[in-house]
Amino acid sequence: MKPVAIIGGGITGLTAAFKLTQVGIPVTLFESTDRVGGVIQTVRDRDYLAECGPNTILETSPLIGELISDLGLEERRIYSSDQAENRYIVRDKRPVKLPRSPLAFLTTPLFSYRAKARLLAEPFIRRAPADVEESLAKFVRRRLGREFLDYAINPFVAGVYSGAPEQLSVREAFPKLHALEQRYGSLILGQVLGARERKRSGNVSKQNAPKFSFDQGLGTLTDALGQRLKEQIRTGQAIGKLIKQNGAWSLGQAGEHSGVLLALPAFRLAEMQVTCESKPISLSMLAGIQYAPVASVVLGFRREDVKHPLDGFGALNPEVEQLNSLGTIFSSSLFPNRAPLGQVLLTSYVGGLRAPHLVSKTPDELCKLVMADLKTVLGVNGEPTYRHVFVHRRAIPQYDIGYGRFKTFMNDLEKSVNGLFFAGHCRDGVSLIDSIISGHEAADRIANHLKKTN
Ligand SMILES: Cc1cc2nc3c(=O)[nH]c(=O)nc-3n(C[C@H](O)[C@H](O)[C@H](O)COP(=O)(O)OP(=O)(O)OC[C@H]3O[C@@H](n4cnc5c(N)ncnc54)[C@H](O)[C@@H]3O)c2cc1C
Repeated sequence: MKPVAIIGGGITGLTAAFKLTQVGIPVTLFESTDRVGGVIQTVRDRDYLAECGPNTILETSPLIGELISDLGLEERRIYSSDQAENRYIVRDKRPVKLPRSPLAFLTTPLFSYRAKARLLAEPFIRRAPADVEESLAKFVRRRLGREFLDYAINPFVAGVYSGAPEQLSVREAFPKLHALEQRYGSLILGQVLGARERKRSGNVSKQNAPKFSFDQGLGTLTDALGQRLKEQIRTGQAIGKLIKQNGAWSLGQAGEHSGVLLALPAFRLAEMQVTCESKPISLSMLAGIQYAPVASVVLGFRREDVKHPLDGFGALNPEVEQLNSLGTIFSSSLFPNRAPLGQVLLTSYVGGLRAPHLVSKTPDELCKLVMADLKTVLGVNGEPTYRHVFVHRRAIPQYDIGYGRFKTFMNDLEKSVNGLFFAGHCRDGVSLIDSIISGHEAADRIANHLKKTN
């Protein structure tokens, strides 16, 4: 059997390639850079461990457990500490714990009495017509009120998408939230009633899912996949052409393939020249997918130079607080071995759609911006003992209003062009677990296709 070509060696492409080899389907994975992992990049320097991209995986699906067990990584997985359940939101430049129980909600200073009373009215607000595509901001203002948008959803969206609630589509970016309203007529009722269904399916909601990494960071996962697939991986190969002729695929170089999986960012998909039985197919419409830029600024400090107890996952900065950064993860509180004894490690994010111009600053300037926030919010006094800055110019795709047309375009092409498949963060969701599920499901679709055609 000719191998399947997997284009893109991020977690999506790696997962798909691994799953296909497990069922005996030959693959070749092409990656343009000199390493696999994509945006997952762990840097170990002295006794500091910095994540340039993602920090944690949410265990919402049993598929991730299977992947870890198949790779023999169970012993190396580390769940976040119990204190990571605490999340802080900054209000009046001070970190305030996000309430985790109805009683804590009633007493929290994070929301005013008016905002709390407004939330209690949520189950009585009528659902929007199913065919209306609303922005996340409009949806939240309508169901939960303005203050909830400013002090809960706005910072949360900065943490997940680095995006803008006024532009994100609630149906595309938060499909479960949209479905809760459509199905139960209320987010609060839907949360309670939906829990039973999730229990039956074995899935866990994102807010209740355990979070984990590995002893040597998330790079452990992609390194292990890279190791298992080392015979199949070709690094330093940027693929720009796909040609299907007489039923077989070629990539503008030697060798034929039985199918192609594109596991690439949208801006790379858009550049791909595809020809199917002598007819050109343009993917350029995918250039319309907007990406948010993000700079990760990882700083180490002596423990005594930070006043805050750092007893949580991190602190998110609402836009109305007018700080320089989007928020900070308390990395060394989440997992062990992130900083030397007596020190702490903090990972802050700058830019996003809130302030995209900031990612063009120099590393020194970015550190200064973050230091100013850390001083105000967490009471950081001393100079950093460690710093690592990494800029993602096009980090996270924005599932904005109208995003459905991009997904429909990819789905329709998969149906109409035999042997061409799409997966990854611009098709199936922006979190790591979404990418892992996406790679897994793409492998199933490819295996089914090959069964039918061979
Ligand atoms: C700063 C940041 C923080 C994040 N934090 C989290 C988090 O904590 N938790 C979470 O769940 N998610 C997080 N995410 C999201 C998550 O990391 C991504 O959605 C996921 O890793 C995307 O994987 P992917 O394989 O789809 O894409 P990518 O990782 O982008 O991989 C695509 C690969 O394709 C390669 N490529 C590009 N063009 C070509 C070509 N022409 N030929 C061959 N190869 C090519 C690239 O070099 C790259 O290796 C974060 C993302 C960023 C940027």
